[in-house]
Amino acid sequence: MAQIINGKEVSASVKASVAKETAQLKDEKGIKVGLAVVIVGDNPASRVYVNNKKKACEEVGFQSFEYALDESTTQEQLLDLVDVLNRDTRVNGILVQLPLPKHIDETAVINAISPDKDVDAFHPVNVGKIMIGNYSFLPCTPAGVMELIASTGVEIAGKNCVVIGRSNIVGKPMSMLLLHKSGTITICHSKTQNLKEVCANADILVAAVGRPNFVTADMVKEGAVVIDVGINRLENGKLCGDVDFESVEKKAGYITPVPGGVGPMTISMLMKNTLTAAKQQVGLE
Ligand code: NAD
Repeated sequence: MAQIINGKEVSASVKASVAKETAQLKDEKGIKVGLAVVIVGDNPASRVYVNNKKKACEEVGFQSFEYALDESTTQEQLLDLVDVLNRDTRVNGILVQLPLPKHIDETAVINAISPDKDVDAFHPVNVGKIMIGNYSFLPCTPAGVMELIASTGVEIAGKNCVVIGRSNIVGKPMSMLLLHKSGTITICHSKTQNLKEVCANADILVAAVGRPNFVTADMVKEGAVVIDVGINRLENGKLCGDVDFESVEKKAGYITPVPGGVGPMTISMLMKNTLTAAKQQVGLE
């Protein structure tokens, strides 16, 4: 029976250390850390994410600046706001909640955010830095996964690591972070053949597919670390991951639940990036 990796606990400890440093910055240097969150339109899932980010800002002692823009906002108006935020010294990090309405080019918006304030690490400059292993901002979800793996005490170096999914947000940066820790990486995707065999060879298996219960016990090696990034909403309204938790739990060594696994980590890593951004902007890092 696998040990459950408690994302809520690991996330709380990351936030506690961010809160401690944030308080020190304020008390000793008079520096306040600020995060701007921009949301366009009224996508209910995005609204929940933005509210959670605001709540996390309060918990760690950041100022948060929320910009809730109407669905009809033009790309030019959004780019103007990003420009204002790039120059606002109270704002250390800028997060534009994705997805954006169809009439706005997401790439243009991401590229307009100053790389120094790009706490999601989506700007090509930061993506490039991740590639060469010289990065200050970690892409939040993969960085959260790294913390969860670290919490198990399982060494990554030399292990077979399989990542299912090759998205720019999760799969690709996830593979890079594992590679930087000297794992032997296989990236699987929708065209991969023999997926079951490849996965069954993984000491560390990360699923970022977006399909409920996609990873079944026969795809998992005995004792493996199984990390479930997927967030899928079932017809009955319940959340479930990409891993068939019930069967895989009996075979894996460690497993993350959904909810309560990777999800809480993404936000705490965003807080960590924002603190890093603030420190860099005042020359402390
Ligand atoms: P995506 O749709 O961009 O990518 C999915 C990937 O899965 C693709 O690369 C695709 O090639 C691969 N795939 C699809 N079908 C496959 C198959 N049959 N076999 C093998 N690979 C297959 O999704 P994403 O943005 O990377 O997100 C993946 C999941 O993670 C989603 O459920 C998303 O909601 C979740 N997510 C969670 C967090 C979090 O904070 N926990 C953050 C981001 C994404």
